[in-house]
Amino acid sequence: MPPRFLELGEMRRSQVVTTFGPGAVVDFRAGGRGGAPVSVVAAGLDAWDESAGQDGQDGLNHPQVINEPRLQDVLGVDGFRLPPAVPADEDGRYTLPQRLVGVRFPQWLRCPGCRVLRRADDWSADPGDPALYCGECSHRTPRRAHVVPVRFVTACRRGHLDEFPWHVWVRHRPGCANPDGPLRLTPTGPGLAGLLLGCPACGAERSLDGCFSGKAFPGLSCRGRRPWLGDEEACSEEPRALLRGATNV
Ligand SMILES: [Zn+2]
Ligand SMILES: [Zn+2]
Ligand SMILES: [Zn+2]
Repeated sequence: MPPRFLELGEMRRSQVVTTFGPGAVVDFRAGGRGGAPVSVVAAGLDAWDESAGQDGQDGLNHPQVINEPRLQDVLGVDGFRLPPAVPADEDGRYTLPQRLVGVRFPQWLRCPGCRVLRRADDWSADPGDPALYCGECSHRTPRRAHVVPVRFVTACRRGHLDEFPWHVWVRHRPGCANPDGPLRLTPTGPGLAGLLLGCPACGAERSLDGCFSGKAFPGLSCRGRRPWLGDEEACSEEPRALLRGATNV
């Protein structure tokens, strides 16, 4: 499935090489007053052309190409591109800020009100606004009850990035009618042991205690996902749970 891009905030061009480089997990706020947290992976270089390219100016055909032959030899590439999106003014200066293009990640978000945990597509959204909200809880408050991206993701040593395997972790009871739907994540005490994941259909419950250990997901192998490119490749590494905002991500 091709990634669906979100147009995010403005940034300085230098940040595209550092903090917001392709594959970086980026937090920002959207949704007007107060804002709602949105988490994305900065999209790969192809997205630059898809979101801002002009015909015949893809990749290295773009006017904003820089050539540096010795560095190209070292890296085995044919040239370098400035982050696009804003054309130069008459004097050739790029004065306007850039826009970051990202792919929503993780796809699982949680409502702080009802504690329901479900995928982005299953939450409510206003057109053009990447902030998502809980329809149920919004009926009870004067403002949108925004939902929050989960803090838990997985990655493997080869650099693939994926969702936390919520349905594997909860261990449904046999015959559960909700093998892939909404779950519930409820804080009951401090730390991981106090975070209780539950299935409303079969009643299975399990805390997140131990999810960061090396053997947390026996039998589960990495799906090779690269959300910033919208593809996957074969991989036999074991996925490890990580915190979304951690530097090792
Ligand atoms: Zn809710
Ligand atoms: Zn269940
Ligand atoms: Zn992998």
